[in-house]
Amino acid sequence: TVILGIESSCDETAAAVCKDGQIINNIIATQSIHESYGGVVPELASRAHQKNIVPVISEALNAAAITLQDVDAIAYTQGPGLLGALLVGSSFAKSAALALDIPLIPINHMQAHVLAHFIEDPKPTFPFLCLTVSGGHTQIVRVDDYLTMTVIGQSKDDAVGEAFDKCAKLLGVGYPGGPRVDKLAQTGDPHRFTFPQSDIPDLDYSFSGIKTAFMYFLRDEKRKNEQFIEDNLHDLAASLQFTLIDMLFKKLKKAAKQEKIKNIAIAGGVSANSGLRKHLQEEAKKHGWQVFIPKFEFCTDNAAMIATAGYYQLQAGKTGSLRDSPMPRMSFST
Ligand code: ATP
Ligand code: MG
Ligand code: FE
Repeated sequence: TVILGIESSCDETAAAVCKDGQIINNIIATQSIHESYGGVVPELASRAHQKNIVPVISEALNAAAITLQDVDAIAYTQGPGLLGALLVGSSFAKSAALALDIPLIPINHMQAHVLAHFIEDPKPTFPFLCLTVSGGHTQIVRVDDYLTMTVIGQSKDDAVGEAFDKCAKLLGVGYPGGPRVDKLAQTGDPHRFTFPQSDIPDLDYSFSGIKTAFMYFLRDEKRKNEQFIEDNLHDLAASLQFTLIDMLFKKLKKAAKQEKIKNIAIAGGVSANSGLRKHLQEEAKKHGWQVFIPKFEFCTDNAAMIATAGYYQLQAGKTGSLRDSPMPRMSFST
């Protein structure tokens, strides 16, 4: 079975081919246009998807040495994401499936981030917990099977990736901020500055407070020293990163204890963070966890995870139809 996966939920236009459950390639066109705006501009994202979608899909098919006629099913991101961006991928998927008379498989992007763990070995065994940390979401997911997953904790406001990006903007290090903060933090002192952590009940998160606290902290320090940010850039990045990671792990440890699960996975763009990966290894030693960290290219948005999710959904007979519409706020289905 050959599945073509298409991803267009945010600012990456991506396509991948999956043959009998094996990912053959993973083609991604990242939109650099948003850099000059310091964030993703929805209308520009839609236009860039429109421009990139055909070349990206052609490249994926070429790299797999197949044509569209060899594709048996098409998996595409139905949501969550930007409506205009989702429409580009879903419209292509629908027209191709209609022309070829093959099944359509609508995919939940956040479930696909979790299923990125099944692209390559070592694969986690069920049940496991997945900390999904990305630009738009922060979730602790209990995964009982490929298609049976439950969000047991999540951010009530900003996502952790958003906190990275917004604080990076305050530091003036450009967009996307997450990777830049990560790089600066490597040579900084994580304990130099402390920032207040908001603690909300259960396994949920709140990341909007830290952004505000960080803004006022910088403003006050800059009154005393105009060069404060420039003089302390590495320590500021390291301390900020330490705080965000600490907040993530407090709830993750609570979840592991509560669910009595020691298989711990991470997913989403922020799981590319080197400090987070290092901290996960340390906690694993302490608590006897077995941890799963996907390859970098499968952490951020990609279509290999969409094609893989499509593979499991097709096996379960969970296909869609031309009537399905993109769902910007899609939640998990079971
Ligand atoms: P969602 O998946 O919730 O719809 P998204 O698709 O925008 O959101 P991803 O592409 O999975 O999210 O991740 C992008 C986010 O990951 C951005 O916020 C970016 O700053 C962050 N990120 C990427 N690399 C790193 C890193 N090394 N350290 C910290 N954050 C990072
Ligand atoms: Mg992105
Ligand atoms: Fe994503």
